[in-house]
Amino acid sequence: MMKFMLKNKVGMIFGVANKRSIAWACAEACLNQGAKLAFTYQGERLKENVEKLTKDLPETLVVPCDVTNQQEVDAAFAAVGEKYGRLDFVVHSIAFAPREALEGEFLTTTREAFLTAMEISTFSLTQVSLAAMPLMKDGGSIVTMSYYGAEKVVMNYNVMGVAKAALEASTRYLAADLGRHNIRVNAISAGPINTLSARGVKNMGTLLNYVGEKSPLKRNVEAREVGNTALFLVSDLSTAITGETIYVDCGYNIMGI
Ligand code: NDP
Repeated sequence: MMKFMLKNKVGMIFGVANKRSIAWACAEACLNQGAKLAFTYQGERLKENVEKLTKDLPETLVVPCDVTNQQEVDAAFAAVGEKYGRLDFVVHSIAFAPREALEGEFLTTTREAFLTAMEISTFSLTQVSLAAMPLMKDGGSIVTMSYYGAEKVVMNYNVMGVAKAALEASTRYLAADLGRHNIRVNAISAGPINTLSARGVKNMGTLLNYVGEKSPLKRNVEAREVGNTALFLVSDLSTAITGETIYVDCGYNIMGI
């Protein structure tokens, strides 16, 4: 394989909460290939985590970016523009729904929970893509994280499944709009991984066991494997792929009975 596939490339990573975050696995894969990375965090609570993880990395930027605050989003992209003068890729790995919406019936989802889930988990991809565009002067690649609950009913996933369905559709519409700027947009549909967010979904353990047994590879996916696919999608190995949802799920999605 080519060594240092991302040499001289600048990426922005959204969604590192801790070292178990899928976003961190994506960052590690990209760092190994020579990328320079800017990290965003949501709220002071996570600042320390992200700063600790990134303290020994060269040419790194750590900026706050709660996607519900447009000023913070604008400031984060302005900081990237100022430090690097360009942007080559974005890893969008954020999602949120109130805990009470991630159990029981979808039917009782409140308006507030629905709108919050859609704003943070879905609209933010469009928001971030628009802000990234002017900095992606030589084209670029944007990758987001989805899940199988977008297309089939998964117990307790509820409003987040609806948000992910809209996220996958957003990926296609954004890919169509941004293609003429040579900016690609793709989603990874990752199998379940035990992260902070995943623990918000009721009975996540049961889901992990089930997928581990039923998937063709008879195991669960590791964050590292999702990170490697993100690396492929932001690298020049995937220059003709856009608007796709790529499964990194040990094959779980292909199974019928
Ligand atoms: P993490 O909890 O590690 O990461 C989720 C990130 O989203 C956190 O950094 C979180 O910050 C951030 N976030 C939440 N609200 C906001 C906001 N308003 N503005 C900015 N950031 C925000 O979990 P994962 O790594 O599992 O999740 C990453 C992505 O992968 C999500 O889109 C998730 O849906 C998706 N995914 C996860 C799977 C899994 O099984 N783990 C499977 C398939 C997809 P904070 O902690 O402060 O809320």
